[in-house]
Amino acid sequence: MSIQVLPPGEAGKIAAGEVIERPASVVKELVENALDAGATSIAVEVRESGLSLIRVTDDGSGIPPDDLPLAFLRHATSKIRSLADLYSLATLGFRGEALPSIAAVAEVSVISRTRDRDAGAYLELRRGQVIQQGARGAAPGTTVTVRRLFAEVPARLKFLKSPRTELSHISNMMGHLALARPEVHFQLIADGRRVFESPGSGRLSDAIVSWHGAEVSGRLIAVGNQPDGLWGYISPPELSRSTRSDLSLFVNGRWVQNARLAYAIIDAYQGLLPPGRYPLAVLHLRVPPEVLDVNVHPAKAEVRFSQGQEPYPLVYRAVREALAEKLDVPAVTPRATRPVIPEAQAARGAPYTPPITEQPLLGAGSPAGTTAPAPAPAGQPATAGSRLPVMRVLGQMNATFIVAEGPDGIYMVDQHRAHEQILYEALASQERGREPEVQLLLEPLVLHLSPRQRAFLPSALSVLREMGFDLESFGEDAWLLRAVPALLPAGDPASAVSSLIDELLESGQAGDLRELARKGLACRAALKAGQPMSAGEMRELLMQLEGCSNPLLCPHGDPIIVHLSRTQLERQFRRS
Ligand code: ADP
Ligand code: MG
Repeated sequence: MSIQVLPPGEAGKIAAGEVIERPASVVKELVENALDAGATSIAVEVRESGLSLIRVTDDGSGIPPDDLPLAFLRHATSKIRSLADLYSLATLGFRGEALPSIAAVAEVSVISRTRDRDAGAYLELRRGQVIQQGARGAAPGTTVTVRRLFAEVPARLKFLKSPRTELSHISNMMGHLALARPEVHFQLIADGRRVFESPGSGRLSDAIVSWHGAEVSGRLIAVGNQPDGLWGYISPPELSRSTRSDLSLFVNGRWVQNARLAYAIIDAYQGLLPPGRYPLAVLHLRVPPEVLDVNVHPAKAEVRFSQGQEPYPLVYRAVREALAEKLDVPAVTPRATRPVIPEAQAARGAPYTPPITEQPLLGAGSPAGTTAPAPAPAGQPATAGSRLPVMRVLGQMNATFIVAEGPDGIYMVDQHRAHEQILYEALASQERGREPEVQLLLEPLVLHLSPRQRAFLPSALSVLREMGFDLESFGEDAWLLRAVPALLPAGDPASAVSSLIDELLESGQAGDLRELARKGLACRAALKAGQPMSAGEMRELLMQLEGCSNPLLCPHGDPIIVHLSRTQLERQFRRS
């Protein structure tokens, strides 16, 4: 179809609003255009988080020279002729607004060549007006270059976040476009460095490896299958996130936000994840175009399904079945002998649960017992310890809670949270600059990080090193891990580091990295719910807890101790 301006009546029915909010929106619109043009390879180059330059080069159909100026008129599109066409829409774009909106807030130039022509056409615009045009030699396809984005729109510039955040929006966008279209080869080059590349093999799993990294990808569970119109991958319960941002949903090849669909996945994990934790998912759905309304949101990110056609039950069932199948497999690891953790007893705040090692955690000879720094060093306030009464251990319940008797009734102590708090306070009181106790690995481990992790790691490096992770850059994309903090339990140090980096990355923009890293390490090093303890170990744990300056709440702010007073007991027994 040639490019034509939609009649005003039709144009007026299109969801209106600002399309270009930040550099990542430019990348989205230009890459979507390239995809609509049938590109098989798309390269995006940005400089200074896209503010000085965004260049998108594709090998798609190209734009005929006569059409090129039309592409920059409002509501000019080659994709639909009337709103009725939206019901059979096969393209990502349809509003004919992206190019003019970009040209209004930046300097834009385009070179494009269709396959049937020998030369390409060139067009340059300033403040939305064509200032130069002509013929240019070019490879088939289109290159759009956007310079000085928002340079003349100070109000927009003010809204932007830090360059690091804007760049992470761009790479997040690219990652999701690659997950949406595994058959297309994507590249993102930022300030001369290749920060992301997907192979374009056509396999969703390859695209997932390129975005989430091999470590995470290797643990995902397959869901559904392509012929049925629902396919993708979800995380096993032991791999979770603190936000919903890794729930990636694609409908008809379009990355979409749809709260109900996200909930279909989250609900399917009910009882399998601790509160406040979310699964990771990459899920594709194919539905007849007529049941999907994409004209809801100016940036086309939200979609609506026609009534009665919502895929909630389909998604819920598929995810639930995939999880059930996975959980039924009898495993021989000690982990499997513990009951599937019902919500209430799950080790809350324990996002990463390495397989439980059989070592006694607090007794002599165990790494945690021997190397955990003394919980209450001399510098603790004198009141420390006076907040907990002296308790006598009665036993352990469900391998999760320590039941003790005190001067005023019964005390139930969450063993994981108690140990977490002990370790957290020890880490916090450790003087900065003092060498942490480390455990050298027999052989250095090569960490293969995802592009996101790689981009983030340098900013967390000093904090991680301070805690005892000996990390060293090893070539372009890899890092070597030589040592870990001594208090980290034996197991899988590579995934412990990787999951810790993820946790910092997710919440790192807001919080204090050092503080987050302490919490993350304490949580990983603490003994888990489900771990049987000897009477001696329980006594030891309570003694260490008594030494804490805040023995009542764990680092995540959840209660460590539940107290049932004598009065309460007597009332229950109707003795008083
Ligand atoms: P829309 O994508 O909604 O049609 P745009 O403003 O994004 O509107 O683009 C206008 C038109 O320019 C498109 O309909 C398409 O015909 C043409 N176009 C834009 N980018 C490309 C590209 N990379 N390759 C081929 N054609 C393109
Ligand atoms: Mg478009």
